[in-house]
Amino acid sequence: MATTFPDIPTVVPAALAGAFAAARPKLIDKFGRQITDLRMSVTDRCNYRCVYCRTGEESFTPIELPMADYLRMVRVFASLGIEKVRLTGGEPLLRRGLVDLVRELSEVRTSTGQPLDLAITTNGHLLEKLAQPLKDAGLNRVTVSMDAVEPETFARITRVPGSFAHVLRGVRAAREAGLGPVKINCVLLRGFNDHQIVPFAEFSRSENVIVRFIEFMPLEEDRIWAPDTVVPLTELLERLSVFRPLVALPANNPSETARRYTFDDGMGEIGVIAPVSQAFCGACSRVRLTSDGKIRTCLFSHFDHDLHGILRRGGSDDDLAAFIEATIQKKEARHHIGEAGFLQPGRTMVHIGG
Ligand code: SAM
Repeated sequence: MATTFPDIPTVVPAALAGAFAAARPKLIDKFGRQITDLRMSVTDRCNYRCVYCRTGEESFTPIELPMADYLRMVRVFASLGIEKVRLTGGEPLLRRGLVDLVRELSEVRTSTGQPLDLAITTNGHLLEKLAQPLKDAGLNRVTVSMDAVEPETFARITRVPGSFAHVLRGVRAAREAGLGPVKINCVLLRGFNDHQIVPFAEFSRSENVIVRFIEFMPLEEDRIWAPDTVVPLTELLERLSVFRPLVALPANNPSETARRYTFDDGMGEIGVIAPVSQAFCGACSRVRLTSDGKIRTCLFSHFDHDLHGILRRGGSDDDLAAFIEATIQKKEARHHIGEAGFLQPGRTMVHIGG
């Protein structure tokens, strides 16, 4: 005879729900920062050779793991409390199978049973054709790196002739696919593209995109960084205010890296990310996974933590989880850019994953 069970209530009483929430895994480092964002590089190849990032010479052997391995590592991170995953590189759109990976990632659930917030950072060169398939696969948002709105300056930075037109079409395709709000990241280098500050403000208003200016960090292959190559936040805000008065906007969340502004007529949005002049390490919620499966606890860390090595040696998901938890405890308090004795990390941005 079949056993019947009483109906199980689907609504958990508030007090119990609180207890469950408290028991849910969280990645908290030794400084009390909750780590919720994973940046994962899926290739260290890139089709651009931006002057502030790469030398332009292919003097390395690219390292890419099977997509199934990235997926498995993300699943474990998600079970521990990661909520957002940003795919990056190198140039992530160069990676074959990316749309399928996004589709698989859209099935992953966080430790609270929610879908992951999925985003990509790309140079946009191949975005025109991929924007809609990525959206259909479950991607939520895209950030396009674009360091000039003037085609000649753009080509001088990327060292790829004719690149601007591709990226502009990519940005528009992303917007039309609903991958919005589209964010544009612009790294400012004094004397190179800082004459683009006001044209970018106009671009934000005319293209309905969020333009975020990022201070140049010492993570480049050519070792050209010096304090005076950085356009600091205060100077940038002054130069934007000459165009139109700026109005500060509230942060979207406590660990948001960008300070947000609009103009006095409410048109356009500008973000300023100032890791050099006004570091935000105290609110850092990020951890990175390189394309060869190493955890990086800070962009400026000098250590790789070989998560994929455990997987390769047949480790279980519990082994991976224990390794991630132990590694998070090694997260650095802050970077030391500009301080005496600062040492640039051996891995550059393209090999970490920005
Ligand atoms: N290829 C993709 C792209 O262009 O967005 C993803 C990888 S790229 C390394 C990620 C981000 O890092 C880009 O927005 C790029 O501008 C930024 N970046 C690279 N080198 C940098 C540096 N030295 N300082 C600040 N940002 C940098």
